Amino acid sequence: MEPSRFKDLNLPFRILLGPGPSMVSPRVLRALAHPPVGYLDPEILAVMADLKELLRYTFKTENEFTIPISGTGTAGMETAIANFVEPGDRVLTAVNGFFGKRLADMASRYGAQVERLERPWGEIFTPEDFDAALKGGGYRLVTLVHGETSTGTVQTRVAEIAEVVHRHGALLVLDTVASLGGVPVDVDGWDVDICYSGSQKCLSAPPGLAPFTANARAMEVFGQRQSRVTNWYLDIQGLSQYWLEPHKYHHTGPINMFYALREALRLGAEEGIEARWKRHRSVAEALWAGLENLGLPPRVPEEYRMASLTTPQLPDGIDEAAIRRRLLDDYNIEIAGGFGPLAGQIWRIGLMGFSARRENVTLLLAALGELL
Ligand SMILES: *Cc1c(COP(=O)(O)O)cnc(C)c1O
Repeated sequence: MEPSRFKDLNLPFRILLGPGPSMVSPRVLRALAHPPVGYLDPEILAVMADLKELLRYTFKTENEFTIPISGTGTAGMETAIANFVEPGDRVLTAVNGFFGKRLADMASRYGAQVERLERPWGEIFTPEDFDAALKGGGYRLVTLVHGETSTGTVQTRVAEIAEVVHRHGALLVLDTVASLGGVPVDVDGWDVDICYSGSQKCLSAPPGLAPFTANARAMEVFGQRQSRVTNWYLDIQGLSQYWLEPHKYHHTGPINMFYALREALRLGAEEGIEARWKRHRSVAEALWAGLENLGLPPRVPEEYRMASLTTPQLPDGIDEAAIRRRLLDDYNIEIAGGFGPLAGQIWRIGLMGFSARRENVTLLLAALGELL
């Protein structure tokens, strides 16, 4: 072992315009650098109380069980599945992109009988789709992705879908990993039962926490479980013991990430959630207009195009990977390519949280203009 081989980190300052992580405010980075305290220190309990309140504000909910799960957005997804699915339960997963598929895979691993409601990548669902699919009855859970990061769509009419799901006696899980804090989300107004997100997309904290909320209807269903939750770490009963009274040890919270997410959410509250949605929308509109001028029109119709993630249609024969590489090497800008059925056909350009700024749009469009 020759320790001098390991040099100081010397990371470039990237302009992160991909599907996440997004850029992080200096205020959030400073919060992260505070010294850790114990996981039951009175000071951390106060930080946790703030986090719960700020998350309720951001989700637009009064739900008592509103906490950040340790882990990335996928940990939020797994919390939703592990706690609200029992072996043999029927689960309907709406699949119109990559993350819908992940939910279907996860539910089947927890022993659910999974039916897929499918739409081609790049389309969204209607309430009538759910009504028809749920006719057979007997479903425990329905999963839906709000902002599908693989395609750039945002699901509309969520309140009507929730109404249909409830009429058929099921619970609705909504994935807002790419949309919370950037695109309108209204958990109570839409009557969504279970909702989760990730810290590193429109909330603009580093990756590592998954905001999660569940309403009284979901908690009642949880209370009627016949079997124990097979995932120990993500069992919401155990997590409640730490996050709610009596604040008992469950697992060591990622304390510094609590500081960071609290600061990121505080920035969001200072801006105001509605103003934040408006900023994402107006910055996205500037990007869309500029992309049209470059001959790279957004692929998703405006009616259900996600403001926080745009997917321009690429011209035939373009070496899209080479252009992305030059954006990174010459301009320090990260954007992403498409994958699955959309590989090579689109880019994925994120304008999320602290990255959603007019100057980043101008810079990206100018760089693309030069490279094309
Ligand atoms: C990013 C993302 C996830 C997964 O989150 P990770 O933080 O990568 O674990 C899930 N769903 C959607 C819609 C996403 O955009």
